[in-house]
Amino acid sequence: MPCPGCNPAPASAAANLPAFAAAMEAEHAGAGVAFQIPDDPSILPAVYSFLMEHREWVVIERANGRLTLSRRDEDRTRPPGALMKALNFSRAAIAHAANGSPRVSLEVWEARMQACMICPNRFFDQCGLCGCYCAVKASWADQVCPDDPPRWSS
Ligand code: SF4
Repeated sequence: MPCPGCNPAPASAAANLPAFAAAMEAEHAGAGVAFQIPDDPSILPAVYSFLMEHREWVVIERANGRLTLSRRDEDRTRPPGALMKALNFSRAAIAHAANGSPRVSLEVWEARMQACMICPNRFFDQCGLCGCYCAVKASWADQVCPDDPPRWSS
């Protein structure tokens, strides 16, 4: 649960997420922190930019008109183990090669990455469901997000 003392975050938090997150971390030094901001389409680009630069943060919930961001270890989805990750990536790479290695446009890659960045399954740079690197898999046109239902598709 997000810290009751820090929530809801003031409107200014959404306007300057890096500064607000840094202030929260300073206040909760060593303990990790989670906070909520309004889930407003107008601020999603700022959230995306923040998460691209600070991938240790993850959106753990979208509910009741709010996004809950966390940097606490216990809030992160754990990707599969090394063997399963290697198997999943090998499968994806073999299928990708068999399909002629198609790539997406920059616009499609950005849209897929936005979905990954605000996804609760993300673990730093990796998808917590399959263990593949989000930026790589999102660039392959024939791939589909492994969530059910998929958060992006080919
Ligand atoms: S690939 Fe899908 S499930 Fe994995 S992090 Fe991206 S959006 Fe989430």
